[in-house]
Amino acid sequence: MHPGRSRSHPRAGRPKAGHAIVLGAGIGGLCAARALSEHFEQVTVVERDVLPMPSGVRHGVPQGAHVHSLTPGGAEVLEEFFPGFTDELAAGGGTLAGALDELDIVFFGSRLRQVPLGRVLQVSRPFLEDRLRERVRALPGVGLRPGLEATAPIGAGPAGPDGPTGVRGVRLARPGGSGAEEAVEADLVVDAMGRAGRGAAWLRALGCQEPATARLTVDVAYASCRYRVPPGALGPAKGVLIGATQDRPRGAVLTRQEGDAWVLSLYGFGKDDHPPVSPERFLDFAGELLGAGASNALRAAEPITGISSYRYPASVRRDFHRLRRLPDGLVSTGDALCSLNPIYGAGMAVAALEARALRDCLDNGLPGLPRRFYRAAARAVRLPWLFSTMADRSMPQVPGTHPVVAGLLARAFRATMRAAAEDARVAAAVWNAVSLTGSPAELARPRVVASVLRHR
Ligand SMILES: Cc1cc2nc3c(=O)[nH]c(=O)nc-3n(C[C@H](O)[C@H](O)[C@H](O)COP(=O)(O)OP(=O)(O)OC[C@H]3O[C@@H](n4cnc5c(N)ncnc54)[C@H](O)[C@@H]3O)c2cc1C
Repeated sequence: MHPGRSRSHPRAGRPKAGHAIVLGAGIGGLCAARALSEHFEQVTVVERDVLPMPSGVRHGVPQGAHVHSLTPGGAEVLEEFFPGFTDELAAGGGTLAGALDELDIVFFGSRLRQVPLGRVLQVSRPFLEDRLRERVRALPGVGLRPGLEATAPIGAGPAGPDGPTGVRGVRLARPGGSGAEEAVEADLVVDAMGRAGRGAAWLRALGCQEPATARLTVDVAYASCRYRVPPGALGPAKGVLIGATQDRPRGAVLTRQEGDAWVLSLYGFGKDDHPPVSPERFLDFAGELLGAGASNALRAAEPITGISSYRYPASVRRDFHRLRRLPDGLVSTGDALCSLNPIYGAGMAVAALEARALRDCLDNGLPGLPRRFYRAAARAVRLPWLFSTMADRSMPQVPGTHPVVAGLLARAFRATMRAAAEDARVAAAVWNAVSLTGSPAELARPRVVASVLRHR
């Protein structure tokens, strides 16, 4: 266990429950499987994709082609679940970068002061997921069943006016509808099938209500390419992040990953600022954000992939915790519960925090688990959701916010970042909030607020 966090109710000596099924072997599903392995004799992870995909980026996780920063808050949970994980990935070629001294981060037009605040692991999403999957596969009682799609829940108990009282398993089939369906019994089914929200729709199929959904349309598009870059050609920083501003709703992330490859991800809010996918225009767009030096170095570098694009229409949060009735035996986690605008890089960390909450909630057994879990998950999601949606609402391109409110938010973010450019204490508070290592309440400390007010 990670030395920084001890469990209040360790499982030692308690009998385990029978069988749990996790649907989806993304980061959310793999973390959930690790959490469940402490409580169940048998855990089966079902994944629609055939694993591993030869190209690295899987059909089911197309976002894997784009930069995936694992914030230190997420890395801490993975380290707690799998001791030595960070060093294993670094030894396997991953880049460890000093935060903030080896990173060049510009938020809302100001460069974050480069104070040393620990280290961050930089790897590609397929590399992270492959290593995580191997760790999960090695856990006692955990099995993986790739190439199978979950199609429907199996209800349990007498069907009352609100549907069955619980779920006792799931139906599986080969993707594409070929072959017979298989019914698999389980004491707990975990939906980690991503942002499409099948678990929510399943509640309706079971005769329950679907959760209320908070949705913020952002219309963000990504375009990314990986390069092999000669050492030193991109300067001393191991990662560069240029965030969007209200006047220029475009951003770029350039990070060194495993095997000395660099990934460049570009993004923009709204159709006019979506990044291009033609190689020349892609690097022109990059040059406007990163400067001519970086774009020339990338022009001279060897691309190791084509340019992939991804459209992210809206952040979505499903408020399961507010439902009056929740059937036992089914919970949703990861993006299925809350999908955050990826430009803030918090999705994997939040999925890991939810898995930790699931593990802790299982200490009190299976009856009533969904309600306990969704309450705990709502706490894990609240601040990342608040932070990302406030930042998005400060952008004039994001519809639905009154211009006065958007203007006030924009001024608050700009002033905070101006202070963070000069004041190490404010830089640390900003970093701790965005990396999910500390509480955003640090930003409300009197000395931080005073510094921000001075930089208005
Ligand atoms: C462009 C982009 C960039 C991102 N960058 C970052 C970043 O920098 N940092 C960060 O922390 N997060 C980032 N994210 C978010 C991150 O990808 C997710 O939040 C995180 O991986 C958790 O997702 P998940 O495991 O819940 O779902 P997913 O990753 O979507 O995985 C769902 C899995 O379920 C499987 N599946 C779906 N349906 C079925 C079915 N019926 N039966 C069986 N299996 C099924 C899929 O094949 C897939 O493997 C980014 C997202 C995007 C879109």
